[in-house]
Amino acid sequence: MTPEEIAGYDGAHVWHPYAPMPAAMPPYIVESARGVRLRFADGRELVDAMSSWWAAIHGYRHPVLDAAVTDQLARMSHVMFGGLTHEPAVTLARTLVELTPPGLEHVFLCDSGSVSVEVAIKMCLQYQRGRGRPAKRRLATWRGGYHGDTFHPMSVCDPEGGMHHLWTGVLPRQIFAPPPPDGVDAPVDEAYVAALTDAVARHADELAAVIVEPVVQGAGGMRFHNPAYLRVLREVTAAHDVLLIFDEIATGFGRTGALFAADHAGVTPDVMCVGKALTGGYLTLAAALCTPAVAAGISAGGVLAHGPTFMGNPLACAVANASIGLLRASTSPTGGWASPARHGGGTGDWAGAVTRIEAGLRAGLAPLADAPGVSDVRVLGAIGVVQLDREVDIPAATAAAVAEGVWIRPFRDLIYTMPPYVADDEDIARIARAIGAAAAAA
Ligand code: PMP
Repeated sequence: MTPEEIAGYDGAHVWHPYAPMPAAMPPYIVESARGVRLRFADGRELVDAMSSWWAAIHGYRHPVLDAAVTDQLARMSHVMFGGLTHEPAVTLARTLVELTPPGLEHVFLCDSGSVSVEVAIKMCLQYQRGRGRPAKRRLATWRGGYHGDTFHPMSVCDPEGGMHHLWTGVLPRQIFAPPPPDGVDAPVDEAYVAALTDAVARHADELAAVIVEPVVQGAGGMRFHNPAYLRVLREVTAAHDVLLIFDEIATGFGRTGALFAADHAGVTPDVMCVGKALTGGYLTLAAALCTPAVAAGISAGGVLAHGPTFMGNPLACAVANASIGLLRASTSPTGGWASPARHGGGTGDWAGAVTRIEAGLRAGLAPLADAPGVSDVRVLGAIGVVQLDREVDIPAATAAAVAEGVWIRPFRDLIYTMPPYVADDEDIARIARAIGAAAAAA
């Protein structure tokens, strides 16, 4: 097809994320991608500031990841997981058990982040039933969150950002605490701690679980909070026999500067979801991990009632193993999850790359704090956010960044970036310049 034919058929027939039909705004056509660059059909090359929505942490066409896919392809691309198993899935499960916070021992592999959140919620509901407490079937969360687009995950998205008004009478009604106070380094707000604790304690009889994104609330508003609130949640949920789910789909695999955001708090949740960067952005795959206690509670009542067709897809597992292998080849003097002992030593340095990107984003974005219409600039790990005092004019902001050679995808009042870890200092400086141009154009 010519670019014109692609654009014409796409506009008339193909849904894109959160879009009307026909589309309001024509998409740019990508012909290929390599390293941190997307190549458009018209020959332009852009630095991808989005890592294809948090996923492509090693960049595109990484030789190790390409080889993992082709090697696996030569064996089998897929077999059912009912009654069968295979080495790529078992290696991946073992690696996830090793790398995630201690105590998460059982792994459910599934197709996408939203499905892993569905499975996590199902695990918690079945656990409470298995333990003879069927009345504990609601969920609690704090406002400002995002957990996916299928129905139960939507019910725990922020009620305004998640467009709950569209779904009145459809979504299960969950319990919402106020959003966590802003700022990773902000002092702990004791009044907030009391309100959060009270919300969980008051509803304990009907609560199956609390679900939150640890440290970074992503698509709900790109807000960061003090990890101490995760310890508060761990204590109050444990005290009331309420399970705790961490949704690490966006934060996992190093993005916030720790391998998992839970590590900033030193907390093990009862259930944890991972996805996105799990496969280095190559194929769709996610997982819900749980503790032996959760597994035992579920199994006391029967089976975990979930089993997708593409569960444990070997191609996706093989590339996930290769992607995590690249991370595990990292060493870091900072210890924690990045400690050489835990990762088996190696030559790369994801933690160093994230720290370098963090410094580059801070330096590049800081001057924007004084720009007209900018209400806040914040950076954590390899995440940079510029918040405006108004809704972003998305076509204008995108076009301004494209003119600077950078791909961004703003939403609401937010222009943000989470670049691939392989982005170099010049790429990061260019991203910061493009975000400045986008903010001025928006
Ligand atoms: N949870 C979080 C925190 C996410 O950021 C996302 C994806 N934006 C999801 C869940 C849903 O994942 P998916 O799009 O793969 O269904």
